[in-house]
Amino acid sequence: MDCLFCRIVAGEIPARKLYEDDQVIAFNDIDPKAPVHFLVIPKKHIATLHDLGEQEDKALAGHILFTAQKLAREQGCDEGFRVVMNCNELGGQTVYHIHMHVLGKRPMSWPPG
Ligand code: 5GP
Ligand code: ZN
Repeated sequence: MDCLFCRIVAGEIPARKLYEDDQVIAFNDIDPKAPVHFLVIPKKHIATLHDLGEQEDKALAGHILFTAQKLAREQGCDEGFRVVMNCNELGGQTVYHIHMHVLGKRPMSWPPG
């Protein structure tokens, strides 16, 4: 298996897990860009947002979003937080297994660089 996040799903690479169910896992980013910075990923390998299927992955995409919402609350981000999904090289994606970044507990500027 050559996908880093599939290896985290399989337990082959350790991660600081915040949440797991049959469809998703969430874990802290190894190189946090904010006091709160975790990733929510599907267990199913989907390389980029372009590969998310409108029909077959619709419920999964919603589940990722609501997992992010729930964990952001649990992490004390009621005042505000940011979610980011980078797609492909131009979008800044470095790991090709989709993931939703959740960043919080610091002021965010706009637009992102
Ligand atoms: P991307 O740039 O693809 O949107 O985000 C990939 C994220 O994965 C980066 O924020 C990076 O710090 C994080 N990351 C890369 N390798 C690992 C790892 O082995 N463990 C964890 N927890 N995060 C990782
Ligand atoms: Zn994968």
